[in-house]
Amino acid sequence: MSKDVLMRDLNPQQREAIVCTEGPLLILAGAGSGKTKVIAHKFSYLVKAKRLSPDSIFTVTFTNKASDEMKERIYSLLEKDINTSWIGTFHSQCNRILRREIKIPGYNNNFSIYDEGDQYSLVRHILKEFKIHEALYKGVATRISSLKSSLTGPEEFLSSGDGFGFDEKLAKVYVRYQDELKRSNALDFDDLIMLTVKLFEKNPRILEKYQNMFSYILVDDFQDTNYVQYCFLKLLTSAHKRICVIGDDDQSIYRFKGANVNNILSFENDFPGAKLMELEQNYRSTQSILTVSGAVISQNSERKHKKLWTDKGWGEKVYCCWFHTYEEEAKYIAKIIKELYLKGRYDYKDFAIFYRINLQSRALEDALREEGLPYRVLGNVSFYQSKEIKDVVAYLRLSLNHGDNVSLRRIINCPPRGISAATLSRIEHEAKKRSISLFDTIKATLRSDSFSSTVKDRLTEFVKLIEDFSATKYRSAAEMLKGVFEKSGYSETQDKERARNVEELISSAEGKEIKDFLDRVSLFTSMDEITGGDYISLMTLHSAKGLEFPVVFITGLEEGVLPYYKALEGKDEIAEERRLFYVGMTRAKDVLWLTGASKRRLYTKLQDQEPSRFLRDIPRNCCQWIENITDYQKIKPAPVKRKVEPKRPFALYTSGCRVKHPIWGIGVVHDCFGDGDDQKVTVNFPSIGLKRLAVKFANLEKM
Ligand code: ATP
Ligand code: MG
Repeated sequence: MSKDVLMRDLNPQQREAIVCTEGPLLILAGAGSGKTKVIAHKFSYLVKAKRLSPDSIFTVTFTNKASDEMKERIYSLLEKDINTSWIGTFHSQCNRILRREIKIPGYNNNFSIYDEGDQYSLVRHILKEFKIHEALYKGVATRISSLKSSLTGPEEFLSSGDGFGFDEKLAKVYVRYQDELKRSNALDFDDLIMLTVKLFEKNPRILEKYQNMFSYILVDDFQDTNYVQYCFLKLLTSAHKRICVIGDDDQSIYRFKGANVNNILSFENDFPGAKLMELEQNYRSTQSILTVSGAVISQNSERKHKKLWTDKGWGEKVYCCWFHTYEEEAKYIAKIIKELYLKGRYDYKDFAIFYRINLQSRALEDALREEGLPYRVLGNVSFYQSKEIKDVVAYLRLSLNHGDNVSLRRIINCPPRGISAATLSRIEHEAKKRSISLFDTIKATLRSDSFSSTVKDRLTEFVKLIEDFSATKYRSAAEMLKGVFEKSGYSETQDKERARNVEELISSAEGKEIKDFLDRVSLFTSMDEITGGDYISLMTLHSAKGLEFPVVFITGLEEGVLPYYKALEGKDEIAEERRLFYVGMTRAKDVLWLTGASKRRLYTKLQDQEPSRFLRDIPRNCCQWIENITDYQKIKPAPVKRKVEPKRPFALYTSGCRVKHPIWGIGVVHDCFGDGDDQKVTVNFPSIGLKRLAVKFANLEKM
């Protein structure tokens, strides 16, 4: 693709942002103005016009899913394999650096990555040990995480404390937690970044290597970077300052994870001479949606003013509805979706329903099911978090890293092999005394007389099992998973559903290198779930970031829900809730519905609810109040029905069919996800192995 084609469908501001490649650049722009698109085109421009190698551009996206989409977009622009390029989240990029470079005493590069679930289970373990109320584990884990994201290690925190009350206890838990991670040769998500920064600070040579390796840095969703991520960027670019960060201060919604919108303000100070650019044309939403969302967000005082316009016209007014109960709200939404679907203008995948808290999804799911509408809930219980998947993965992790205590605790008696909690507790005690891992402790106690011969036999068998997995040369992650599933006895004890899930995991690991596969699984978060397929999407407002849908419903616009009750006291917290609402509204392309109800069951109680304060900020002339479905039918004339039955998605490719790719040649489709335009396939190419491709971008030819 020539340079001109690359620039063809961009507006002058976007073009300017792309060709500005010297010195620091901050692009601050509103929702839907093409920020993410600019990143993809700028990457391609740097390769095409500036002759940079794709591997020398360091690109950060907010989720793994966004990185995959970015890779696909760039691939379709460049028509060039960019598989080894550095496009990923902060976590995955730092992981990649640490796997090569970790030279921090106590760790080696076989480290395990502990996700939120593992982190929780470790914190609980420590709270129990310290005889602190175990139910506090989430709060404690969050505090530790925010300390790490402000680069405060356990020692610094311990020495900064006043020595009183809970903070003192927290400091002790933090010290112990970090100690336990180190002993397990494990890093949690925050460590991935914190330890990379520490590594760079302590080893100028290593830092220099990476500074030289990357000639350009691109960062999307910069408003949600936290302090430690910002430090990482500053270190990486301190030599050449060729960095372009793109963001929208109005969409900063991860303060509770340490995101600091002030990084946008600091950027101009920390990178003197930084150019500031804006993008003003919104390509996503109608004028009504822009005006309504603009009116709401303008109530936040500390923000950079931005202009946004669209040439899409006013479109439909924004619909606002208030119901007696949350169940009515849900039923009404399901009816509207069905009606719009039957009119034929929208597919199911064009609808999204957002809510503030996960438990709101229950009533919505019931209502959609009742109407026979297909839907998917994002981020509730992710596949990788289900018990059987975590169990099998724990075998892999322990086999690769014998220090991994969290994994050992998980599987030592799973499936049951007669190793009791009391035995484990004795091993724990011994491990702590000797300051070594549980696995090494077990091996050591086998040489002593600590246990009866029956227990010893069982422990010996367990050690042998893990050591066999470690020693076997598996050709792929799938082969190892298969081995684990069969030899661990796990396959015999599981019900059909669980066994099917493990089989799905095995097939997704086909052709993948073991360590890469484990990294991918460990770094996966609920925001990365595949959205392909003709389904209505249900998700929290936090997960909606970066996405777009023709028709959006935002539910529960009530005081205590949106804004959330924990935020009601503070001005900054309310501002954050308003931004969250703004993010939700600006996902809508054509139609936006805002709903709420007088009665809602929250946790166990049926509560009386007041309309959200945010509804007061909506300009009356841009919205239409709807009381019931017949009102709505009066505005919208009776539909021409297209199909009464939900349509069956048309699958373009199916497993086993042969395809031709312009670069990798002929391959066989291994798996398909989604359908129609959104279909993604994994294809086995004899030349390079398994590849995951979006049909829309991949230029595949069916043979
Ligand atoms: P958000 O703030 O929500 O992350 P964004 O600024 O990153 O949004 P994009 O997602 O890049 O915006 O773009 C929004 C939509 O507008 C996308 O569908 C994109 O393809 C389209 N778009 C962006 N720029 C143009 C353009 N110059 N011409 C046509 N469509 C465009
Ligand atoms: Mg974006």
